[in-house]
Amino acid sequence: MVTVHFVKWDTSLDLMKEANCLYDAAGTFDCVEKGDLVAVKLHVGELGNPYYVQPFFVHDIIRRVKEAGGKPFLTDANTYYQAQRNNAYDHMVTALTNGFNMAPFIVADGLRGENYKIVKTKGILNKIEVAGAIAEADAMIVVSHNKGHELSGFGGAIKNLGMGCASRAGKLRQHRTVGLEIDESKCIGCGKCKEACPMSLPEIFGGKARNISPLCMRCPFCAEACPTGAIKLVDKENICRALASAAYGVLSTFKNKKVSYVSFAKDITQYCDCLPSPGKVVMNDVGIFASDSPVSIDGAFLKMSNYKLFNDAYQVDCMLQVRESRVLGIQGDVKPKIQKIS
Ligand code: SF4
Ligand code: SF4
Repeated sequence: MVTVHFVKWDTSLDLMKEANCLYDAAGTFDCVEKGDLVAVKLHVGELGNPYYVQPFFVHDIIRRVKEAGGKPFLTDANTYYQAQRNNAYDHMVTALTNGFNMAPFIVADGLRGENYKIVKTKGILNKIEVAGAIAEADAMIVVSHNKGHELSGFGGAIKNLGMGCASRAGKLRQHRTVGLEIDESKCIGCGKCKEACPMSLPEIFGGKARNISPLCMRCPFCAEACPTGAIKLVDKENICRALASAAYGVLSTFKNKKVSYVSFAKDITQYCDCLPSPGKVVMNDVGIFASDSPVSIDGAFLKMSNYKLFNDAYQVDCMLQVRESRVLGIQGDVKPKIQKIS
């Protein structure tokens, strides 16, 4: 059984010191060998959203990677949707504005998302576009911020791997596993779906909406804006399977035991931290987790949190992405042993 190490979020303690004890106990930097180019995969936050991993923790992770002999770089792949991180220029400005200047920040899939390696994977996808700088790295520390997510229920290490390490094309591939249906009998042709869509994709023909665009990312702003419930996403749980499938593909670009995970379960918001306005913080802060398994680290978070509120809010089982990852052969335990530090 894989043990996940854990520090409670207790501000009466020196959390930086606690985090370092956690990394030592979990062997977080054992994946780093002298001279390795080490991707520190994180999400640098969306401008206007205060909930992301605090830069001083990342500063310390960079220090530890260097002490282990590695050459660390911060990295993330561009977003598919139009926002502050969908090209390398805006992404880098966002990273610097939010305080991530402790190491070079390399946008993993390049200026406009065209730098990627296509790899075969298992599960619901047969291939995935892994962002180039991640596919080429020698080792990776996956630093995640746990939060709710409108499609997958929650986001943690598996989502950071599967969606976060995929290029824009890989992100769209995962989102397209979800279906979108328009019930013409309920549609009144008001056009609110088109107004709400970031790409204005729905078209109104003969007083009815239709959406046949291959660019549709199933986000689903149109469905939320529809006053009659005519648009809905279907097969939503497929995104959980897609995250697991993509995560398997991303891990296939690394040698065994070259990826390590640290997750921060703090400021756990209703919506994903990729939005400028992520909604309320809906759970008490839990703590910091460290493991060498994405299955175990996400399983540990779910074991210690009231994740059923995300299941109920989004009508999707948060455990599905974790179980599916295990079924595909990613090592770890869905319900791991949790070892508390200090
Ligand atoms: S789900 Fe709706 S809002 Fe989102 S991209 Fe597709 S058409 Fe646009
Ligand atoms: S918002 Fe709903 S009712 Fe209005 S046009 Fe779009 S699908 Fe039809």
